[in-house]
Amino acid sequence: MGTFHFSTRSLKNLSGVHPNLIAVVGLALAQSHVDFTVVEGLRDMETQRKNVASGVSQTMNSKHLKQSDGFGHAVDLYPYFDGSVQVHAPEEDFKAIDCAMQAAADTLGVHITWGGSWKSFVDMPHFQYEGVK
Ligand SMILES: [Zn+2]
Repeated sequence: MGTFHFSTRSLKNLSGVHPNLIAVVGLALAQSHVDFTVVEGLRDMETQRKNVASGVSQTMNSKHLKQSDGFGHAVDLYPYFDGSVQVHAPEEDFKAIDCAMQAAADTLGVHITWGGSWKSFVDMPHFQYEGVK
């Protein structure tokens, strides 16, 4: 507990993300048993168009895009171990991140949704901000 801290990469990728979601990610990282990296946060329209075209994303309504409040409302978190980001990490590692994220969200009174719980398009690294409780 409390052994993990944001890498430069994670800090850069949190730029433009809603402050409440940044707070959840920060607390989750401090309490998580699995180290993780923020691989993506705010995404521009051009990148989203490419993602939809390639099938990586399914919608142009992505919460990664700048929302009406001026912030991105989604982050993609990947386990980090053995010196690198683990894109193909076991599902348990993503679930561990979800546990830390939900606990942090509860503590901070914030609603989040995990893409790993979606039925049609399971998106394990994806977390999005849904507002305050
Ligand atoms: Zn995502």
